[in-house]
Amino acid sequence: MKRTLATSIKYGNYKHLQYDAKLVLRWIEFYWNDFKEYFDFDDDIAFHVRPIRGTFQGWYKSERNRIEIDPRYPPESVLDTIAHELVHAEQYHQGRLAWDGDVCQSVWNGEVYKRGNTYKLYRNRPWEIEARERAAEFVKEMLAKDMRADADHDALAHQGTLI
Ligand SMILES: [Zn+2]
Repeated sequence: MKRTLATSIKYGNYKHLQYDAKLVLRWIEFYWNDFKEYFDFDDDIAFHVRPIRGTFQGWYKSERNRIEIDPRYPPESVLDTIAHELVHAEQYHQGRLAWDGDVCQSVWNGEVYKRGNTYKLYRNRPWEIEARERAAEFVKEMLAKDMRADADHDALAHQGTLI
């Protein structure tokens, strides 16, 4: 696994995003074992934090096995984006999703999938539905886990084990 920051964040016009961007890199490390448990992707996956123009908060580039994430969103939303893109990484890794460069169409479970050009068609593509659902589930599980950890911490604190 590789994690990098965009040059524009490191040295350029987006230096003011450095703090948030580094947090994103830390979350990736923090949740790494959970990612591995929930999603089936190649270990050599690369994460690149960069500002993304437009409405996308992230995307997965299959040809480079690389996820790019925009750090300008709240933590829960960033975690959701990473999980969403990891589902796409899994879909490619397992061969369920592929790109047919000859016809410039996605191939889903061995069949060329007609590309829609509206937002609604985009949202309804089966691999997007799967990514949305599993990412939401992942975030829910992680929040529940964090709450349990907090509760354990509180319980221990009440017993006087922790200060
Ligand atoms: Zn997607």
